[in-house]
Amino acid sequence: MNMKKLCVLFLSMMLVVGCSTKPKAIVDGTYEGEAKGNNGPIQVQVEIKDGKLNDVILVSQSETKGLGDVAILKIIETMKTSGSSAVDSISGATVSSQGVVEATRNAMKLAGYDDAYFSSEEKVSVSTVAMESEYTSDVVVIGGGGAGLSAAIEAAQTGAKVILIEKTPASGGNTLVSGGGLNVPGTKQQIANGIEDSVELFYEDTMKGGDNESNPELVRVMAENALDTANWLIDDIKVEFMEDRLQQFGGHSLPRALISKGNKGDELIAKLEAAALEAGVTIYYETKGEELIMDNDQVVGVKATNQGKEITFHTDKGVILATGGFASNLDMRLKYNDDYGANYMSTATAASTGDGIVMAEKVNAHLVDMDYIQVYPTCNPVTGIISYVANSRFDGAVLVNQEGKRFIDEMGRRDVISNAIVDQSGSYAYLVWGKEVEEVGKMTEVHALEYQAWVDSDLLYKAESIEDAAKHYGISVEEMMKTIDDYNASIADGKDEEFNRGGALKTINEGPFYIQKVVPSTHHTMGGIDINTQAQVLDNNSNVIKNLYAAGEVVGGIHGTNRLGGNAITDILVFGRIAGQNVVK
Ligand code: ADP
Repeated sequence: MNMKKLCVLFLSMMLVVGCSTKPKAIVDGTYEGEAKGNNGPIQVQVEIKDGKLNDVILVSQSETKGLGDVAILKIIETMKTSGSSAVDSISGATVSSQGVVEATRNAMKLAGYDDAYFSSEEKVSVSTVAMESEYTSDVVVIGGGGAGLSAAIEAAQTGAKVILIEKTPASGGNTLVSGGGLNVPGTKQQIANGIEDSVELFYEDTMKGGDNESNPELVRVMAENALDTANWLIDDIKVEFMEDRLQQFGGHSLPRALISKGNKGDELIAKLEAAALEAGVTIYYETKGEELIMDNDQVVGVKATNQGKEITFHTDKGVILATGGFASNLDMRLKYNDDYGANYMSTATAASTGDGIVMAEKVNAHLVDMDYIQVYPTCNPVTGIISYVANSRFDGAVLVNQEGKRFIDEMGRRDVISNAIVDQSGSYAYLVWGKEVEEVGKMTEVHALEYQAWVDSDLLYKAESIEDAAKHYGISVEEMMKTIDDYNASIADGKDEEFNRGGALKTINEGPFYIQKVVPSTHHTMGGIDINTQAQVLDNNSNVIKNLYAAGEVVGGIHGTNRLGGNAITDILVFGRIAGQNVVK
């Protein structure tokens, strides 16, 4: 996080503090408190002085960089200024916000405060910089994920005045919480590994992966521009990729995904945001795009809100919608495909509520493929959040059910695997792997914090033997040992006889072994706004809506029925750049 952003974040705290019922016996002193965050515990140290909350110091946290950690700092600052622990959660970072409040209250309880006191505290809100009510620029980008930031960079680099509005306190969206992988044919990593790939094969895999329901023109643009976009990321944006890692996601014919440093989207977002600020883009956080402003048949601005205040953004050249998908909007999921209702959690951030789709629809934009919603097979059975440790699947881990039996090709399509998991007893599965698989990508080390959080919740167990692994989760030892023995024997001939598993085939022979309980969770919404190859939004008569562009998950038609792993980041960056280049033309 740069200083400029921090300053913006902490400016103008708006506090409303009222009376509260203080318990009689409060003991001054320093106390420690802990509570659960998204990725692990949040620990704080609290100072009570003259019977009041005087100071809060963050001791440790492992929340999502650029989102949860920012929210924690803002809330602590507000608690210190107000002396109240009743700080409202920050949208998009609810679990982290609640976690830091609870940790503080747990420490305060040691000083003698009680629940009656906490419920009597008046709510305190965190506010950002006071905004004007009107702004004028050449371009407004709505949404600060991968698509919005790359669009903003391209537009600003032509000299245009660009404003980006982001409804949460920080840039990132789902791009931030992704694994930071993008498919690119023809990289130096592929060449070094002797892998012969082509734009055509990437195109074919993507079309096939989406049951040939994608818009072929858009898929071709994505495939043709992937390598140039990867080079742009490396050379211009200074994104670092893992030199020795090339991943094969399910549904791809061969390994073609570059993985950014740390196997997380924060490397992408941190560098893209820095490049956007460097290019002169002005970013307004906690500013939500609400409605497009039309003048006759063209888009001339956006109505937005910031802390309840209405702000109008006027534009000369156009608006780019980059607000992401709608996987976190239960009503929209039910509206477009009621198979994915409340029985599914979501891997998406709380901000993925389909706002751009709703705004576009109101100006007569055409929507496509809205019923195609993707579930991701290996997520947390309690929170629904995606597991990156479970990427061991791509390195050779297998899935078994509660009966200890395999049931599917683990490298198949996400929808096929997810549906198969839902059909097993209890609608969950276990991912199982040993040392041979772990050594490929070292998932428990690369994602050490996530690994520990899963172990602590007893959703992942490190076992000495397959027998130990089975016993731990009450699986039949006999069945499980037979399954793993049969699998090892089968792949010794280079083929998985039972399910014809794609990708890497690794034996599960040597300990330590790992067993992880997983469920499918809604992940990506393939449907959205219809665009042409220039990222211009089309209306219901297939005409261009003047000055309106869209890029990223808000767009439909690129992934057909089913998005392949690693194709989201390629798509959002390729079309984000195209939107940014064309809006200024
Ligand atoms: P993409 O992958 O298409 O870039 P992301 O989910 O990564 O999508 O990013 C979308 C971003 O848009 C998120 O940061 C989200 O908070 C933001 N956003 C969503 N709706 C709005 C809105 N109405 N106004 C401003 N920002 C929004």
